[in-house]
Amino acid sequence: MATKATKATSTTGARGGAETADYDAIIVGGGHNGLVAAAYLARSGARTLVLEARNKTGGAATTEAPWPDAPEFNVTRLSYVMSLLPPTIIKDLQLERHGYKIFPMGPYYQAFPEGGSIKLYADDAQRNHDEVSRWSKKDADAMPRWDAWLAGLAEVLGPLLLTVPPNLGSHKPQDLKDTLRLAWRNKNLNVRTIADVTRLMTMSIADLLDDWFESPQVKGALAVNGVIGTWAGPYEPGTAYVMAHHSIGDVGDGHLGNWGFQEGGMGAVADAIANAARENGAEIRTGAKVQQIMLKNGRAAGVELDNGQQLTAKVVVTSLHPRTAFLDHVGRTNLPDDFVNDIEHWKTRSGVVKINLALAELPDFTADPGTNLQEHHTGSVEMAPTMPYIERAFQEARDGRPATKPFSDGVIPTAFDKTLCPEGYHIMSLFTQWVPSDWSEQPHTEELQAYADRMIDCYNEVAPNFKSSILHRDIVGPYEMEHDYGLIGGNIFHGELSLEQLFHMRPAPGFADYRTPVPGLYYASSATHAGGGVCGIPGMQAARAAITDRKAARRRLRGRRS
Ligand SMILES: Cc1cc2nc3c(=O)[nH]c(=O)nc-3n(C[C@H](O)[C@H](O)[C@H](O)COP(=O)(O)OP(=O)(O)OC[C@H]3O[C@@H](n4cnc5c(N)ncnc54)[C@H](O)[C@@H]3O)c2cc1C
Repeated sequence: MATKATKATSTTGARGGAETADYDAIIVGGGHNGLVAAAYLARSGARTLVLEARNKTGGAATTEAPWPDAPEFNVTRLSYVMSLLPPTIIKDLQLERHGYKIFPMGPYYQAFPEGGSIKLYADDAQRNHDEVSRWSKKDADAMPRWDAWLAGLAEVLGPLLLTVPPNLGSHKPQDLKDTLRLAWRNKNLNVRTIADVTRLMTMSIADLLDDWFESPQVKGALAVNGVIGTWAGPYEPGTAYVMAHHSIGDVGDGHLGNWGFQEGGMGAVADAIANAARENGAEIRTGAKVQQIMLKNGRAAGVELDNGQQLTAKVVVTSLHPRTAFLDHVGRTNLPDDFVNDIEHWKTRSGVVKINLALAELPDFTADPGTNLQEHHTGSVEMAPTMPYIERAFQEARDGRPATKPFSDGVIPTAFDKTLCPEGYHIMSLFTQWVPSDWSEQPHTEELQAYADRMIDCYNEVAPNFKSSILHRDIVGPYEMEHDYGLIGGNIFHGELSLEQLFHMRPAPGFADYRTPVPGLYYASSATHAGGGVCGIPGMQAARAAITDRKAARRRLRGRRS
């Protein structure tokens, strides 16, 4: 296992020592995690600079107007719903004052090609029972027990999201203390709960749902969260955990697993965090692409931009994909071999295609007619009718072909949010899977158009006005995600949420505490624990680690002087 005894050597270029640094902290990447890290560091009194390569901050949390001839239509281009941002961050950074405003989503909705529909409510047991009874009385009776089971697991897993993973296997006294502290905090777990967690971590979502439910419609509805952003079909082990990851958050209103739309799209979440960072004193530069992290005497000493400009800092926090952050920016020769090996083998596929649409009217579902705004337009408007349907889409992509009938997690944020487009029109966002994972290597433009046509046809089958209602469409495939947004392999979380890449393994064993093999370099990307989603936890934890180490260094210095 890699140890923190770094073999980092000095690189050229770090001008000036720590005493003369331009900044106390430089943050590489102005996605939401980089901005959270900046806000916390600036709040602690550090002179903080954020460097973002694109011409705007936000990364995958971005609101954009993709159609030059229709600039009045704004889409939340990649991520689209909020759930996982903890109240601590909202409160610490006073995000509501800076524009963080969530509309809780309506029910899950699926209209079936063979007729009929189902709605599932996050917070209304009676209506859930009525809806599910239409497909299976047995499943309707099982639903409250399932919800309670999930709530019990969320009580265990929720706090773990905010826990810094201990360095399991290390015999250093501090690491052993951290491991024991985690065990002590979970001392109330019993045999049954441990068994349930084990099942969740190891089972496929298909097997888990088979244990609970009988109706294909209900199982299809509950399976979607198990495969979102994942290069794995519902029959793959580990997908049960992905479902839990997407089910344990709340948007601050106390409803477990409930998701919400940010007013102004996800870019407004990033803007709120950026405003908080600026108010705390951080400087944010866009159009500033980092090319290298500079080291001096084995420590992080600053960064070099692609225009050759060098900026020094005592602390560098990077929030980029691990391959970019470590292999490109730090360099293999400056890192321990086993760490390099771990990052080289980091799994980062997903085959996601985001399709953003401007609509002249709302979908008119045969099962629930009308283009007037109704409850079923206000939540997720799915195209994932059954588990075999989802599985087929994955199998085709794994065989190297885009799905004939992709699945989609669709939403219509304009059911609530009137700021995205003119009155009377709507924005619909389709998060779809799968295309082959290697489509991140080539644009595949024409095939993506055909894929989008097929996706739209699937919706048109259950809402016959759908196709004709589309005014504009914007398709973002894996290649664009990698090349325009830095999401290597098109993976939406900077790395798969597969079992071997969770908790103490994220991003590499021995380095899950938001520190890296290079002293002074901290890691705040979604590729760290809790990451995967617009949750800000990696940014907060990396900043906390840096602040703790700065204070300890100051104490040591004072001790030496006195
Ligand atoms: C299609 C899609 C849908 C998603 N849906 C959801 C959802 O609905 N809800 C949810 O919670 N999560 C969702 N996610 C996941 C979530 O958006 C990401 O996990 C999260 O936004 C990543 O944040 P980050 O700050 O860690 O990284 P990023 O957002 O990737 O930020 C990294 C930043 O670094 C910048 N950068 C890259 N290279 C350089 C460089 N050399 N120099 C300087 N800057 C650089 C990038 O431009 C980017 O701004 C989705 C993601 C995608 C792609």
